[in-house]
Amino acid sequence: MSKTKLLQPDLVLGDTILGLTPEILTHYHIKGLVLDVDETLVPIKQSQVSQELEQWIETIRQMTPIWLVSNNLSEGRIKRIANSLTLPYLLGAVKPSRRKLRQAVQAMELPVNGVAMVGDRLFTDVLAGNRLGMFTILVKPMTDTAVAARHSPIHNFEIWLSQILGVSLIVSQHEFTKDDQSLRG
Ligand SMILES: [Mg+2]
Repeated sequence: MSKTKLLQPDLVLGDTILGLTPEILTHYHIKGLVLDVDETLVPIKQSQVSQELEQWIETIRQMTPIWLVSNNLSEGRIKRIANSLTLPYLLGAVKPSRRKLRQAVQAMELPVNGVAMVGDRLFTDVLAGNRLGMFTILVKPMTDTAVAARHSPIHNFEIWLSQILGVSLIVSQHEFTKDDQSLRG
């Protein structure tokens, strides 16, 4: 697989994780989820999960097992978030390393291509998921408007660089007639 392909998400959601619906999971035959934490679930400056996120987790966990895998080294922060959602977690993942993603997938006892890695970053979440052979979903970061301005340069840089590398970040249309194989390279 080329470097560009490794940065190419299987699905570009064009929304925060709250836009990841049961219908989308069914359509892509996703049987398990590994979720990034910072800015995928909770803005970096916040430590509480939103009510919307709690409701989303309650809906989705009825369909698939969910693990949190974070690069954050703060056990206090990640444990608090995971416990408030009653989800298993791994921290200090050093994504794009595959090691802790593999650990989470193995705990689910699912084939790796049936598990989606969901995150807001191409060069950590998407790259790690693709390296392991997972289905990868790029979501919009969950940001505070107050800190969005400070964080956007990182995302803007990643988007700029990835497009130079030939990654398509066109938001995937959720037409449930399309064979999901057509999106995989
Ligand atoms: Mg993140």
